[in-house]
Amino acid sequence: MIDSFSERLLHWFDQHGRQHLPWQQDVTPYRVWVSEIMLQQTQVTTVIPYFVNFLKTFPLVDRLAAASMDVVLHHWTGLGYYARARNLHKTAVLITNEHNGEFPLTINELEALPGIGRSTAGAIVAICTNRKAAILDGNVKRVLSRCFAIEGWPGSSATTKKLWEKAEYLTPEDRVADYTQAIMDLGATLCVRSSPDCGRCPFESGCIAHLTRRIDDFPARKPKRALPVRSTTMLMIENPAGEWLLQQRPSPGLWGGLWAFPEGDGVINVLAQLNLDNTCIQSQVRLEEFRHTFTHFHLDITPVHVKLHQTPPAIGEKPIVWYCPGAPAEIGLTKPVTRLLKELE
Ligand code: SF4
Repeated sequence: MIDSFSERLLHWFDQHGRQHLPWQQDVTPYRVWVSEIMLQQTQVTTVIPYFVNFLKTFPLVDRLAAASMDVVLHHWTGLGYYARARNLHKTAVLITNEHNGEFPLTINELEALPGIGRSTAGAIVAICTNRKAAILDGNVKRVLSRCFAIEGWPGSSATTKKLWEKAEYLTPEDRVADYTQAIMDLGATLCVRSSPDCGRCPFESGCIAHLTRRIDDFPARKPKRALPVRSTTMLMIENPAGEWLLQQRPSPGLWGGLWAFPEGDGVINVLAQLNLDNTCIQSQVRLEEFRHTFTHFHLDITPVHVKLHQTPPAIGEKPIVWYCPGAPAEIGLTKPVTRLLKELE
């Protein structure tokens, strides 16, 4: 008789769960940690090639610790939420220097490391030791709030508290590693955000949201607030060799550590910051404006393509590179840089 939540879930996992994801093979705390950080805001199918490439470049934590931040950000380019990569590097350095290269496998010690929250710590302990530890990532929040009709936006502290209590209560004593994989899997494959596949779900007969036809009510949406809008002019400066001028963004800060086109309040101001005058400029073309949205504001970007007659010997005060898309340097690029270079290709 399969009656408890975990038994149902494990029974489903044994038959239908994904057992061949790259981080499910050769399980080590390092591999699980990297996968959990990558999966925090990104879907499995996107993460897989990044994970494989990352592990090829940094097979062990000390290799990651020894790499420069530029190289780490380069391997993260395209995954977004770059604070994850910066924290990954900081944690690798701490693990290497202060923990002899071994991950501490208690929730409290893991939570003390940069970028590791309660859920990620729980996943690492559960998957690597099979000891009881609950997780509550976005997938699990969705499954639990639907199954048990937990009202409220999961980002609020009151709802988070209720969800954690439920997650702790449901986590079994046995097969914790499989249970952890299973609940993440169910949320990622069947109990997806829109049009969940309830007909194949092990909780079809007991899920309150499904039985009451209120799936769209759970989890509750974040209360809407209008994001402020800022604007900027971004200069795509190209030298006669077809290379693009990129500046490194200060860290911490927006796009901290990444390389970006110089930007600011209008063409004249940006050129002045760079100590470039009109005599160097061959042509200047304004491109179509577009919007880049951060979590806390919209940025309306006006790109201007500026061609130079010659490469000036010195430009501005920030670190710069002349970036050649055909032979790219190992540096992390902001999303607008990737997008604009692709558009001009
Ligand atoms: S029955 Fe549907 S809504 Fe409920 S947990 Fe399963 S997939 Fe999600």
